[in-house]
Amino acid sequence: MTLYYNKRDLIIVDDNKATMPFRLGLTALLLALGLRAQQPIPDNPLRAGANQKKATRINEAIYQAIGFGNAMMVVTSDGNVVIDTSIRAQAERNKKLLQAENSGPVKYIILTHGHGDHTGGVPLWKEAGTQVIAQKNHVEFMNYQARLNGFFARRNAAQFAGLTPEIGPWPGNYGAKIEPTILFDDRYEFTLGGMKFELYHTPGETPDHLTVWVPKYRAAFIGDNYYTSFPNMYTLRGTQPRPALDYINSLNKVLALRPEIVIPSHGAAIHGNAEITERLTRYRDAIQYVHDAVVAGMNNGKDVFTLMRQIKLPANLEVGESYGRLTWSIRGIYEGYAGWFDGNPATMYETPASSAFPDLVKLAGGPDRVAQLAAERVASGELVEALHLTDAALSVDPGHSKALEVRLQALQKLRQQSHNSNESGWLDNGIQRVKQRLASDK
Ligand SMILES: [Zn+2]
Repeated sequence: MTLYYNKRDLIIVDDNKATMPFRLGLTALLLALGLRAQQPIPDNPLRAGANQKKATRINEAIYQAIGFGNAMMVVTSDGNVVIDTSIRAQAERNKKLLQAENSGPVKYIILTHGHGDHTGGVPLWKEAGTQVIAQKNHVEFMNYQARLNGFFARRNAAQFAGLTPEIGPWPGNYGAKIEPTILFDDRYEFTLGGMKFELYHTPGETPDHLTVWVPKYRAAFIGDNYYTSFPNMYTLRGTQPRPALDYINSLNKVLALRPEIVIPSHGAAIHGNAEITERLTRYRDAIQYVHDAVVAGMNNGKDVFTLMRQIKLPANLEVGESYGRLTWSIRGIYEGYAGWFDGNPATMYETPASSAFPDLVKLAGGPDRVAQLAAERVASGELVEALHLTDAALSVDPGHSKALEVRLQALQKLRQQSHNSNESGWLDNGIQRVKQRLASDK
């Protein structure tokens, strides 16, 4: 899951795991900023932690503040270690919850990865002498996010049906603010107050992802490489490939540690090696199944849309799709390996298939007829087909009221059916845009 900040430190939300508490927090934040309020989203397994009044005590030394991006604290006799710091909007609350348990000095902040829902509270937590640790790919990952600040600002705002915030000046290709004072390659360890901390590079959701291992408690802080939904291997706001095999290797690394506690950065801790092994193994195997099915399909000459329709997880590998979605991951894997060209000579040029829409609409008898056909598709439940038809009608007449109304119905029905928070965000954004267009024509 991700969040970004522009140069003015407005929160611009990503990606991924919009949880209910997160959405509510974001709504409050956007309202405070004078931006548009959000629609509610459907239930989400990551909603745990709403209204948390007291940090969760994992054991005698480990505490967890749950939010959009949990923040964790490990207490030692010689000061504390903070693992992830939440989005900026929640960082202060989470810091208060954790410091109510122990207000010792913060000796280390460890970032499981460079998404804003993990890095947002670093400036709040950092004290004189605090070391901030990240994997070395953090630097390029932060630069990548900053490099595309305008793109991500717009896409993140759209994903949450908000208004695009004012975008700061382009920081340049290497203009990110880099907080870590310690960067490592594969492995890093330190001891504080007699407690050993081992850090392993575990790429998955991001290339700079790491896992923190505290041997004394057999506790693994797994970041975003595990949560209670199929992983968001492609996020709709846009991402570089998130390689499936990286997730698999990293999950194997964590399983090999034989943890007794796994503490994810979204959702609650898992206790007991048997439960952990069962959940992480199923998660890994689900990813492996999808990856291998995509690769087999590619090698057998299948196109990406066929694979998106055909690949289904067997029942014993179901892990939920409230955040990541199988079809997006299938396309993410396919295009992550192959890029955008689909092998059709018509698509290698700068003239898209939609350039034929006006001719086809004319042939059909005009946008009224196409809008009527779209309405019939809505009535028969073919909602995405209806959206495509309205795209065609609106390409001829962008203000066509019947086409807009049918499009609105299709989007609203899809929204009612949605149990995925990212899908819901984009549908809300689409609904908002159609309503704006309809209002502007009145
Ligand atoms: Zn996250």
